[in-house]
Amino acid sequence: MKVVALEAHDIRFPTSRQLDGSDAMNPDPDYSAAYAVLRTDDGAEGHGFTFTIGRGTEVCVAAIRAYAPLVVGLDLDLSDLGEFSRRLLHDSQLRWLGPEKGAVHMAAAAIINAAFDLAGRVAGKPVWRLLADLPPEQIVDLADWRYLTDALRPEEAVELLRAARAGREEREAALLAGGYPAYTTTPGWLGYTDEKLVVLAREAVAEGFTQIKLKVGGDLADDVRRMELARRTVGPGIRIAIDANQRWDVGQAIEWVEALKPYDPWWIEEPTSPDDILGHAAVRRAVRPVRVATGEHVANRVIFKQLLQADAIDVLQIDACRVAGVPENVAILLLAAKYGVPVCPHAGGVGLCEVVQHLSMFDYLAVSGSTEDRVIEYVDHLHEHFTDPVRIRDGRYFAPSAPGMSAQIKPDSLREYAFPDGPAWRL
Ligand SMILES: [Mg+2]
Repeated sequence: MKVVALEAHDIRFPTSRQLDGSDAMNPDPDYSAAYAVLRTDDGAEGHGFTFTIGRGTEVCVAAIRAYAPLVVGLDLDLSDLGEFSRRLLHDSQLRWLGPEKGAVHMAAAAIINAAFDLAGRVAGKPVWRLLADLPPEQIVDLADWRYLTDALRPEEAVELLRAARAGREEREAALLAGGYPAYTTTPGWLGYTDEKLVVLAREAVAEGFTQIKLKVGGDLADDVRRMELARRTVGPGIRIAIDANQRWDVGQAIEWVEALKPYDPWWIEEPTSPDDILGHAAVRRAVRPVRVATGEHVANRVIFKQLLQADAIDVLQIDACRVAGVPENVAILLLAAKYGVPVCPHAGGVGLCEVVQHLSMFDYLAVSGSTEDRVIEYVDHLHEHFTDPVRIRDGRYFAPSAPGMSAQIKPDSLREYAFPDGPAWRL
């Protein structure tokens, strides 16, 4: 099939009006998507996006358009999407803008995930199943192995995937019957009042979540009060993760986490810059037994490799569309499995829950083979705009059955929230 069109849309939701999504670094996000649609000459389509928070979405949209000459007119081989991915990422002129980071990389993620959505639709399978059904060699071929072989070689990855085949049927039955564990960030936004925090934390436990997350890093006295309140509300049996969204220097991170230790935080997320591998390692050594988590702003597989090699993290947080989509995330899942570090994806935003669940479910069936200490983030925002929204029950994600990657935004929502001319923005 030949690609006949690559569309790019600037879609923004005015979430800053309610302070949904507010944290110590991002006080007023308008959750947005640079949204890509691939169309082929036989009428197939694929949808993908990268998540942005308002201003600058137009930059990612322009970057999606910059890839069009490499994509439109291409004969798309759905059995070799690793090659399609490398075609985009290895383009020397576009690569100059990264390499493999920033707007150009995020734009590639939108297009590459759109190709996987398309492949799932053509095969009649959700992408978690499409990936899990591939033979180990084909899974390994999806990844770009350049810069990885000092940590993991493709032959080792094949062995790892072969070993993970034992128990696959039982795990699939368990996934279909009982879902995949989730945690919720809904109670913990920094802009919410104490009353709203208590009500939402209580609701989260009643809904079956065993882990919640609080944003921290604005003001220490406020954080101590909110953490104490949250712990008193949920009791000792519920995990409370904390998330500083890169707010601190290394020393400050250590002091701040120490002050919150009496309330038993499960992990500290993004204590400092996502590029600071040695800084994360230092924080990790200092704040034990509190775990260190990062990943939603990690630019690519090379930084993840180093975080693992440097023993800098206890929890690896993939993002479905900051790195270059499915193939780069497959590489990161394989690295995490080799190093024995649990993957707890970043989600929320616009559609991140919808898309990333496919990667965790694939990981459970075919890569790590485990859900122990693994949870997908869940935030109860904006799901109503998707044609195949996540299904959350009893604090768990239930596996999507529709073909594709659950990435499609409803046509009405694309019109309503188009920026700057959609009705939602004409005030
Ligand atoms: Mg976070």
